[in-house]
Amino acid sequence: MLTARTLVKSYPSRTGRVEVLGGVSLELARGETLALTGESGSGKSTLLHLLAALDVPDSGEVLLEGQDISALGDAARAGLRRDRFGIVFQALNLVPSLSVAENMALHARMAGRYDAAVCDDLAERLGLGALMCRRPEDLSGGQQQRVAIGRALAARPDVLFADEPTGNLDEETADRVMDLMLELTRETGTACLMVTHSPRLAARLDRQVHLSKGQIAA
Ligand code: ADP
Ligand code: MG
Repeated sequence: MLTARTLVKSYPSRTGRVEVLGGVSLELARGETLALTGESGSGKSTLLHLLAALDVPDSGEVLLEGQDISALGDAARAGLRRDRFGIVFQALNLVPSLSVAENMALHARMAGRYDAAVCDDLAERLGLGALMCRRPEDLSGGQQQRVAIGRALAARPDVLFADEPTGNLDEETADRVMDLMLELTRETGTACLMVTHSPRLAARLDRQVHLSKGQIAA
């Protein structure tokens, strides 16, 4: 469903441009869960940003069902993210002034797919049912993480992108959040690309790819 073809991405630095991705190709099938691993600084977030249409490559293409989304302008890519993708950032980007319920509904509302029953069900499954009136600051890290996942999934995306979604959590909480995320994506047939540097968590997804020196190492 989502195909990356020879993606090259570099960033400017004081000493000239530094190439982070040196021709990365990747395939994510409908409903597939894929772990993206690699050392810190190996370009995992950069690759996720290209695949999720948050940024565009220097060269190469990202095809969503055959359409080159990296060739689209900013507004079209924003619309695509709203309509097709769910994104969970490491810095969760919850809206501090909104309640848990409002945060959870936010993306779905923007996508025109808000469904109270879907949101309520997700909240229950994520163990947030009793917390819906709270503000994000009154939640634990694990709870905030679950709100971010709920917000992404409530919009019923075709692809969920998650950048180290359990990176700030202790091992036990990370496991529980992962269980839920995988359970929910598998139930709904949502494809998932998850960045993690935990081999243990990566092993729980359908497939793993490892990024090293700007290339995918099989
Ligand atoms: P990872 O997520 O695997 O830790 P990143 O994709 O965040 O790696 O970063 C890969 C490399 O690109 C790092 O050396 C980082 O410093 C650099 N980098 C990432 N984003 C930017 C940016 N916006 N501007 C300049 N350099 C960047
Ligand atoms: Mg990163």
